[in-house]
Amino acid sequence: MPPTCAPERPEEVVARLRAACRTGSHRSLEWRTRQLTCLRAMLSDHAEDFTTALHADLRKNRAEAYAAEIGFTIREIDHILVNLEEWLRPVPVTAPGCPPGSEAHLRYDPLGVVLVMAPWNYPVQLLLVPVVGALAAGNAVVAKPSDLAPACSALLARLVPRYLDTDAVSVVEGGVAEAAALLAQRFDHVFYTGNGVVGRVVMRAAAEHLTPVTLELGGKCPVFVDRGTNLADTAARLARAKFTNAGQTCVAPDHVLTDPETARTLEVELARSLEKLFGTDPRASRSYGRIINPRHFDRLVRLLDSGRIVVGGGHDRENRYIAPTVLAEVRADSPVMQEEIFGPVLPIVEVSGVDEAIAFINERDKPLAVYGFTRSTDTRRRLAEETASGSLVFGLPMAQVLDPGLPFGGVGPSGTGSYRGAHSLAAFSHRKTVLQVPQR
Ligand code: NAD
Repeated sequence: MPPTCAPERPEEVVARLRAACRTGSHRSLEWRTRQLTCLRAMLSDHAEDFTTALHADLRKNRAEAYAAEIGFTIREIDHILVNLEEWLRPVPVTAPGCPPGSEAHLRYDPLGVVLVMAPWNYPVQLLLVPVVGALAAGNAVVAKPSDLAPACSALLARLVPRYLDTDAVSVVEGGVAEAAALLAQRFDHVFYTGNGVVGRVVMRAAAEHLTPVTLELGGKCPVFVDRGTNLADTAARLARAKFTNAGQTCVAPDHVLTDPETARTLEVELARSLEKLFGTDPRASRSYGRIINPRHFDRLVRLLDSGRIVVGGGHDRENRYIAPTVLAEVRADSPVMQEEIFGPVLPIVEVSGVDEAIAFINERDKPLAVYGFTRSTDTRRRLAEETASGSLVFGLPMAQVLDPGLPFGGVGPSGTGSYRGAHSLAAFSHRKTVLQVPQR
């Protein structure tokens, strides 16, 4: 820790971490493994504290807090701990274009000091999973949690220095001013998760220092529901993915595209599924979350008039409660279709079939995810070949985040770069060519 009690200035934090990196201590497998093991211990020793903080910030229920935040991060750590030594081995490559007898290999070099900035919706996981990748790659990290999840931010700031080397991770709390002060510093990589408006601010600030960025952004993730699918099962899977965390998930289904006949049955099944998930009064359900703040609450309430309400529509500002809501017969030019919803409102937009659905998707920003429910191999092939998105998932929205072996990221307006497991190691390293040409 710094010698004084006064909070370190951003330039002091970065200088301290940079000096520590220069000693070379962060490069060893032993150092990396120790930091990851300590982080794991922090999560398991304080699982109860994290659960309480997540409930305070987002009213996240216990099961969700473990599955999507605490246990999720532990699984990521375990996956990396098991594989890291092998991933770090230099990879020999042939270089027939080089002089005869040349030998080449590729190795991952740490970048140095990296900045990780996280949003409020999964305030533990979205900070720590990138931090895990950065540490595995042998970097020092400045970790900036979201001020909109203050209980989690305070807990992370309190616990991280107790468990990890203080020259491994420095947690800097705060809002826009603190984030801007950090972004003015020279980092070796900036990893930002959040909205695209701030994503542009981050990229501009990083450009000043020629610092590479990973941007994990949002967008409107469409779901195509084909004729002939099992609609009871589709609705159950859709409802769970959409209304987890009260719809405040970057990869949550944003809207449904389907034909009018399927839409009529699907809306009934969605209403049924919601009752199964949250009962007849979701306000009283312990499984149902709340909207993060009044600004987002007001924004979401304004979207509720965008179509015929099939189920839901109720809201209560004092408790930041918005009922899980399905809107039918929603027009493409309605307010709910003009922005990422990021809340518990599911519009159904009618299209004639897969051709129109593909055209609809391609007329808009490339989304973080496209989802499909179809029995048709040809429709799956067409969605894969004819649409662009961070990921494409059939049968279970949000399943792409379950396995740390799958790279996670967006494309274009939904993000730049990807991470998780070995892909995090690649994101937070420089892949260096080492070439030896024989000499007489
Ligand atoms: P947020 O407001 O918490 O902001 C994210 C971070 O940016 C915070 O650390 C915050 O302090 C900082 N920040 C905010 N304004 C800033 C500014 N003007 N200058 C510098 N820094 C600033 O979170 P948010 O952006 O509301 O998060 C929701 C968005 O994030 C949604 O669009 C969602 O889709 C996206 N998201 C993406 C992913 C992903 O993995 N791709 C995951 C979660 C959320």
